[in-house]
Amino acid sequence: MSNELKVKFWGVRGSYPTPGAGTIKYGGNTASLEVRAGERTIILDAGTGIIPLGRELARTKRANEIMLLFSHLHHDHTQGFPFFVPAYMPNARLHIFGPGGTPETLSSVLERNQSTETFPLGLRDMSSSKDIQSVRESQVIVWDENGIRLAESSVGLSDEAVVIRIHKSYAHPGGVYIYRIAWRGKSVVYATDTEGYVGTDRKLVQFAKDADVLIHDAQYLEEHYRGQLVGFPSTQGFGHSTVTMACEVALASAARRLVLFHHDPSYSDEMVAGMEATAKSLFADSVAAYEGLEFTLTPRFVSANAPLSAKETGGNVSVLLQKPSTLPLSQRERGQWK
Ligand SMILES: [Zn+2]
Ligand SMILES: [Zn+2]
Repeated sequence: MSNELKVKFWGVRGSYPTPGAGTIKYGGNTASLEVRAGERTIILDAGTGIIPLGRELARTKRANEIMLLFSHLHHDHTQGFPFFVPAYMPNARLHIFGPGGTPETLSSVLERNQSTETFPLGLRDMSSSKDIQSVRESQVIVWDENGIRLAESSVGLSDEAVVIRIHKSYAHPGGVYIYRIAWRGKSVVYATDTEGYVGTDRKLVQFAKDADVLIHDAQYLEEHYRGQLVGFPSTQGFGHSTVTMACEVALASAARRLVLFHHDPSYSDEMVAGMEATAKSLFADSVAAYEGLEFTLTPRFVSANAPLSAKETGGNVSVLLQKPSTLPLSQRERGQWK
């Protein structure tokens, strides 16, 4: 079994897909990323980035058992799901979790997204087996040698358990789930669609404490957010952050590296590159997410008896990434981080 925790970005754009010459470097697909803990595949959000990811999972025969986590159910986080190839594979088993008032809320929203009036195939026409459940913030999602289940705490879990905790943020219209995925002492925090607070979002800072990778919404330029950019009305209160807000959370939480995410659909590659430069001046280990960006985190040996909090903090990090390029994804070369 692989000993690595991998993160790969398949869609990094917010709001709506943006194909075209101006978005080639970072990509135009909406939010979706893949986390691999050894042989286990966890997908975060189902924007259009999940479409090429689904094809890849089918091609490499990794579609048998997949976990899909929704941060929330806005279009740009769900619109790729009807085109997710593994959902149509009879041998695939999907475990789908996300927010909702009752355990059935998530499945009813997904069913509505594929009603007869809006899409030719309904959820029941997708021949995979699907376990769809809304989860509460207080619950922990566990994937260990006994399978996938919900728990009320992470006490007593084995070293092999992938442990996913949830923080519900109200800094986005309708609320959003922020996830922390931890395995063998390594952790990734996915904080998309969230707006910063004056003095930072203290609850988020606490939740993201010492994360190896913090993926944070950084949709807007400072001037855009404030309404000082010609042709761009102010976006304050829209539920998205500026680069500065993302960096403040990274600094306050002592995250090891920051990934700027959910790029504004109206921004060109040059604008996103400028935001990345700003981020690096505030938090050195920053990168703007692009399609094909990949991290590999290698956990150190973890004692079987160590408490979970200690397990999460140690370890040497080796991070690989593919350099952004105009070449097709499959042809991009893999390089060393920085
Ligand atoms: Zn979004
Ligand atoms: Zn949203």
